[in-house]
Amino acid sequence: MGKKEDIEKFEKEFLERKPNRCSKCKGRLKYIGGGYYECYDCGHQEIDDFGRIKDYIDEYGAAPAVVISDNTGVPIELVNGMLREGRLEIPEGSSVYIKCETCGCSIRYGRYCPDCIRNRTNSLKGVFFNPDVGEKPQHEVKTQDGRMHFLGFDK
Ligand SMILES: [Zn+2]
Ligand SMILES: [Zn+2]
Repeated sequence: MGKKEDIEKFEKEFLERKPNRCSKCKGRLKYIGGGYYECYDCGHQEIDDFGRIKDYIDEYGAAPAVVISDNTGVPIELVNGMLREGRLEIPEGSSVYIKCETCGCSIRYGRYCPDCIRNRTNSLKGVFFNPDVGEKPQHEVKTQDGRMHFLGFDK
């Protein structure tokens, strides 16, 4: 299905773009969460693509992947990848969600809803970041045309 290659490609690209050294003093960075890193030596903070996207969503709310990409400068494949790999959560109450790859219901992050994950016993290994399981939103907001819109699925 090509999914494994997608994930590997995503991980590779993400890691290539991730900050490795402090841009001020070249010191080593420690991950402090939320896509932010702090320099051991001077305390300067760096941000990775995950942090950029997360900050964007925190500030402006969820948006189609293409809009997030335009505004953060993060390549669209990475925006999509992060949503799929469960690195990014769609905030509760959003009108835009990711959909479960098996049953198509809305989830806030990950690739499969909790129901579907229970039916899958294998092939979940090798996921680098988080488990595939997502969380269903408590409230689904329907758009005017009555259909759900999903991040990354309407190109
Ligand atoms: Zn530094
Ligand atoms: Zn499902």
